[in-house]
Amino acid sequence: KGRPWDVRRKVRTTCPYCGTGCNFDLEVIRRPIAGEPEEVIGVASAVDAPVNGRHLCVKGRFGLSFIHHPERLRRPLVKKEGRFVETSWEEALNVVAERFQAIQSDCGGDAFGVLASAKATNEENYLINRFARGVLGTNNIDHCARLCHASTVAGLAAAFGSGAMTNPIADIAKSDFLLVIGSNTTESHPVLAQKLLQAIGRGTPCVVIDPRKTELAAAATEHLAIRPGGDLALLNALAHVIIAEGLQDRRFIEERTEGFEELQAAVVACSPEWAASLTGIAPEVIRETARRYARAERASIFYTMGITQKRTGTHNVMAIANLALLTGHIGKEGSGVNPLRGQNNVQGACDMGALPNVFPGYQPVGDAAVRAKFAADWGLDTAELPAKAGLTVGEMLEAALVGELKAMLIVGENPVLSDPDSAHVVEALQRLDFLVAVDIFLSETAQLADVVLPACSFAEKEGTFTNTERRVQRVRQAIDPVGQSRPDWRIVVDLAAALGRPFDLADPAAVMAEIARLTPSYAGISHDRLDREGGLCWPCPATDHPGTPRLHVERFTRGKGRFHAVHYLPPAEAPDEEYPLVLSTGRRLFHYHTGTMSRRTELEAIYPEEHLEMHPDNAAHLGLTDGDWVRLSTRRGAISLPVRLTEGIIAGTVFTSFHFSEAAVNALTNSAVDPVAKIPELKVCACSVEIVDPP
Ligand code: SF4
Repeated sequence: KGRPWDVRRKVRTTCPYCGTGCNFDLEVIRRPIAGEPEEVIGVASAVDAPVNGRHLCVKGRFGLSFIHHPERLRRPLVKKEGRFVETSWEEALNVVAERFQAIQSDCGGDAFGVLASAKATNEENYLINRFARGVLGTNNIDHCARLCHASTVAGLAAAFGSGAMTNPIADIAKSDFLLVIGSNTTESHPVLAQKLLQAIGRGTPCVVIDPRKTELAAAATEHLAIRPGGDLALLNALAHVIIAEGLQDRRFIEERTEGFEELQAAVVACSPEWAASLTGIAPEVIRETARRYARAERASIFYTMGITQKRTGTHNVMAIANLALLTGHIGKEGSGVNPLRGQNNVQGACDMGALPNVFPGYQPVGDAAVRAKFAADWGLDTAELPAKAGLTVGEMLEAALVGELKAMLIVGENPVLSDPDSAHVVEALQRLDFLVAVDIFLSETAQLADVVLPACSFAEKEGTFTNTERRVQRVRQAIDPVGQSRPDWRIVVDLAAALGRPFDLADPAAVMAEIARLTPSYAGISHDRLDREGGLCWPCPATDHPGTPRLHVERFTRGKGRFHAVHYLPPAEAPDEEYPLVLSTGRRLFHYHTGTMSRRTELEAIYPEEHLEMHPDNAAHLGLTDGDWVRLSTRRGAISLPVRLTEGIIAGTVFTSFHFSEAAVNALTNSAVDPVAKIPELKVCACSVEIVDPP
């Protein structure tokens, strides 16, 4: 698209894909034809990028051409007689305002549901939170963290007082034992995974626990091929061994924790022999793993969706926290518990109150003093802010199905492909009286909307993202908005004004000033400071505070660390005669989530089609050979895709990703949820496979 000497300027910003939070420079050219807008033609890595240095993965390096894709939404769309018609911003905003006002006066604020976005900036998520609570009058606000780390937020907050990664990414190099469980790090967090691989290369022992032999598992000192759903049995067995062999840190337990006796009683029966039958991992391997973790001087645990997307997700997370509390592997350099957050700004969206029970900074909606503080700042009476926790995304969809939820505002999310049991999701969205989608493309969800408002991509706006290690980093505008698209922050400001409740906020820097005023953990953060000093890890409670890369150093956020007695439960759906295999889902290196962005880039040519991974023993039983097309069925539906045989998955389990609408695996997944965090059990359900003719 351009030559190096055509590059007019480089703009430092933060990657819009995963939560690693790599920085790079967008290369901007002005095309030689007069009047043509500037374009982003490439990416240059930046040696001074704090997380990644010069390193970028294939998505950050080659996955950004979606910015100028011809399918970008350029004008607002209003559905008339079942078809989208392009319209002006004025008309689109008026339509939304009229319908929202009518629903609000007829049914009240709780007739609305709002989905914020882990892809949007902190400033935008903050404003969506203010719009939902202060303008619509509902706490029915949620976002895709419900599908990934809601169980982390609940589990680690209960154990430590803070539901976030405890240590910086740089601490990987300072650990002398690495335990990775339920994380396909090399594909989901590629640059962070390189730090793990470098540590392994330097001789740091690393144990990877996963049903699949991922690239990291293959490189690790040891791969424990666990049966899907066996995590809690294994984690409790590790605690059992540590206590039975007296390997716990007695002084740390005495001085810094509470509830040890409850844990001790809960795991006394969880012997490695008991766990072996549930996990498929030999008792002696369990014993040895427990010893290595406990005896290490500085040990770190890393985990993602394999732990959290279970009906025991919160308890799985608590069981991980138990291990760190038992051994004192927390609050120190190279020792901690590290939930790797998936999307570029899922940590920030949680921080900014895109959750049904908390304002920004995890300040409870049920606390009258907190409500009074936000109401005063927003020019409202305290009584105008609802005190009751709102609905999660799954609960919103249920409420829509029974006619209690009338309207939704969905910003930058695609629940039709990302949420479990998608036929159910589509039916719920179709039952709404009014659906507004804000997006950069006409996603599968936006297609169901009554009004679609075109948003800017990350390259067209200012703001901040917060990465997995709680580092708040700048996003900078490189080019003008494509077409008539507007940044999400401006769309929310425009909607508030159209509804007669204007926000007096001129730009994202002013929004960050408001965030800092109301959110203690962000109090010391401003755009000016980030521009001067680079990223800052929260909590950053004052403008002269350096930020906090490492949590719980002298005391836990909640005071003492809390052990939890948690008990093994099998997955909600077990294989049976009709559905004899286990289906697990996940991600691929070359694509991202529902593919809205990555499938509109050069990456699509590299990885254009999805397949089903299956062990050769299962394939032989079914008479399948590599490349055959199969129908993959569960109790909720069926999809067709080719099969790929691999020894890298345990027999009895099959795996595919949720990136492809042509093989939309979430039509099949189970919507059974963790009762605490309401996170669905996307990682395990029963399925069957049969050969079919290729399409
Ligand atoms: Fe972007 Fe993540 Fe790749 Fe870094 S590792 S370039 S943040 S996708």
